[in-house]
Amino acid sequence: MRHLTLASVLLTSMAVTTPAIADGHLMIVDEPLELTIHMHHKRYPSYNEDWPVEQEARRLTNIHLKNATVGSNTDNSGEAINLLLASGKLPDIIGTSRIKDVVNQYGPQGAFMPLNDLIDEHAPHLKAFFEKRPDIKAAISAADGNMYYIPYLPDGKYGRAYFIRYDWLDKLGLELPQSVDEVKAVLEAFRDGDPNGNGLKDEVPYFARQWEELIRLVTLWDGRSSGSDTYHDFYVDSGQIKHPYAGEGYRDGIKNLTEWYAEGLIDPEVFTRGSSAREYLLSEDLGGMTHDWFASTSGYNRLSSEIEGFAFKAFAPPASISGQRIEEHRRIPIKPDGWAIGGTNKHPVETIKYFDFWFSPEGRNIVNFGVEGVHWTMEDGKAIFTDAILGTGRPVNSQLYELGAQLHARGYFQDYGYEIQWSNEFALEGIALYDEGDYLIDQFLGVAFNEDEQAVYDKYWPSVRTYMLERQQAWILGTGEVEADWDAYMADLDKMGLNDVLAAMQSAYNRQYGG
Ligand code: CA
Repeated sequence: MRHLTLASVLLTSMAVTTPAIADGHLMIVDEPLELTIHMHHKRYPSYNEDWPVEQEARRLTNIHLKNATVGSNTDNSGEAINLLLASGKLPDIIGTSRIKDVVNQYGPQGAFMPLNDLIDEHAPHLKAFFEKRPDIKAAISAADGNMYYIPYLPDGKYGRAYFIRYDWLDKLGLELPQSVDEVKAVLEAFRDGDPNGNGLKDEVPYFARQWEELIRLVTLWDGRSSGSDTYHDFYVDSGQIKHPYAGEGYRDGIKNLTEWYAEGLIDPEVFTRGSSAREYLLSEDLGGMTHDWFASTSGYNRLSSEIEGFAFKAFAPPASISGQRIEEHRRIPIKPDGWAIGGTNKHPVETIKYFDFWFSPEGRNIVNFGVEGVHWTMEDGKAIFTDAILGTGRPVNSQLYELGAQLHARGYFQDYGYEIQWSNEFALEGIALYDEGDYLIDQFLGVAFNEDEQAVYDKYWPSVRTYMLERQQAWILGTGEVEADWDAYMADLDKMGLNDVLAAMQSAYNRQYGG
């Protein structure tokens, strides 16, 4: 009884006071213990032992991670993990983007350790987290009921929004578009009205860093482009698993977007311009509208110092043809990214304690903000970035990745406080607008297959998906006609196994979420 009381007092005081990091209470082992790690993500195809966050974690826990990443010469994490699995020798820790399917498939066969008992016995912060969020525990459990990975858990609700040049609307005497027809009229005016005033018809009315954000616009015709924050994902419609690219709203949306593309309302280079599209088209005063992240997109209003009147701000989702206003994208509470313990790890207890460290108040600050006293200081119980981060003028998230913070191939719980500090007034204003309108919709958190379901998925899904994406792009670019092709397309999808995949997903979904 006395022991319990003491423990709860300790936990409470840790949560509310400034952590006294130097007292050694976070030490996991007396002597430094090296654990090998495979860490692969397109932003960092290997684990960097010099990351300040790794160095700080070493100092506090005495656990030293040693890079043992396979496939660092590719930026494709799937390829890398396949190489690793084929090598037959797993390191102590495996962290990668899209680890969920890998561990759910190979964990029950012994390649990864089940974490439930380890967490119950040795990881008080993780245990407390999962007790508070049983939905997350259900979503990351494999078909055998065990958890095999600790995910990256995003914080905050809002992700992307519709953005438009408010100053261009003003110049052309237009209001914010409220409907699909009004969006089209505005994009036509951007194309024809020379809102950048250079006498050239050079404006790019709708652009996107990710071409999937063009497909996103099918929501304006009541279609869907994804059921989660992962592109092309399945979605749940009243308990039924469906795929967006087999729906009639999608068909109608693609038909219209094909016309928009042909009429020059969409960036002609939308499929090839890539991640620099936003930077280039905004700083050159060419881009009119997009669908992108609140914080980073709002940041472009700094261009008002170079481009007279520049105002690129969020606006409410336009009403679809049936009058629905939805924002399809939101932050998902769990990502399929994170890390796991290799099945032959000789130190599972130390490793789960290390995983738990990142969920302690101290570890959570380090993984979110960097090193205390260097990258942030504690003010009124909150980690506040120093000028070392905010004073550089560089994107904060890129700086954090370079420190080894905010790495999505690590299991950690993001703190939205990290982002609000560099969200400018326009982002906060836009978030308030979306909050008021309540435009977000429920997300599909994914399923864990049993072996039979997995076999069906593996057999059919990759080729079905490839076919869907090929047809999608061909239609937009003007090859074939979606309406004329639709029945044959649906028959092809059935022949290729889409309905078998949907049945497998439905069976997994019903088991996992009690549908
Ligand atoms: Ca122009």
